[in-house]
Amino acid sequence: MTANLRIGIGYDVHRLITGRPLILGGISIPFEQGLDGHSDADCLTHAIADSILGAAGLSDIGHFFPDTDPRYKGIDSQEILKQACAEAARMGFSISNIDTVIIAEAPKMGPHLAAMKKRLAATLDMQVSAIGIKATTHEKLDDLGKGLGIAAQAVCLLQAVS
Ligand SMILES: [Zn+2]
Repeated sequence: MTANLRIGIGYDVHRLITGRPLILGGISIPFEQGLDGHSDADCLTHAIADSILGAAGLSDIGHFFPDTDPRYKGIDSQEILKQACAEAARMGFSISNIDTVIIAEAPKMGPHLAAMKKRLAATLDMQVSAIGIKATTHEKLDDLGKGLGIAAQAVCLLQAVS
């Protein structure tokens, strides 16, 4: 007997640097710094993609999109997320819901959460109500608390499509 529900977890962090746009949840957020990385460095979207791949029992996004591959330089992470969803579908799963946390000292995420949900829901072809995004600070503790980077955690639930 195979279980028809599968849970997955994802975590990602990227360094904040000047001279890059800040992209989170597939939207551009006005800020004096942006996340550094091979792709657009959208740590929220990467965490979600990893949670989906993990729940499906697949390798992480580094396997599907190696940061040594020039084809993926500057890639829109919504493409990564779309592929993670397609890989899960290939394994016979659909996504029931996703919940996430952004850990950022700045900027304030509250005004942008609705737009992020809308963009992610469109990428995943899901209801906005099946995607949770919360934001918290790191209470000035450690490097995240000094604003040196932004991290994100995600969980997702997959359901076997019968
Ligand atoms: Zn990443």
